[in-house]
Amino acid sequence: MAMVFCRACAKEIHETAPICPQCGASQHVARAAPADIDSPWLAIVSLILGIICILTLIDDSPWDRSTLFGMSIFSVASLACGIISINQKRPGNNLAIAGVVLSVIATLCFAGLSLD
Ligand SMILES: [Zn+2]
Repeated sequence: MAMVFCRACAKEIHETAPICPQCGASQHVARAAPADIDSPWLAIVSLILGIICILTLIDDSPWDRSTLFGMSIFSVASLACGIISINQKRPGNNLAIAGVVLSVIATLCFAGLSLD
């Protein structure tokens, strides 16, 4: 079985021990998730990028190739952020799903426009 060292007194303890049997120090800090795992920023980024793509699609001003290329990158980035957020079970799951749906729609539209 795997052993780790107590964070307080450095005595060897089992890795799943919640507290050190020697000094009683909590060992939870070692297994805490990264600070940003609880934040919904990826989902929000996904949704914002998705909305920008959709707004660009609705806007009927003429596009050149570089605009189309730029918006394709936006939609792929939105898709990636949303999928990562959902995979990591971050908060803001609904936002991430909305972002993914919008970016998939946008990607399909951009792909269709690119073929013209
Ligand atoms: Zn200890």
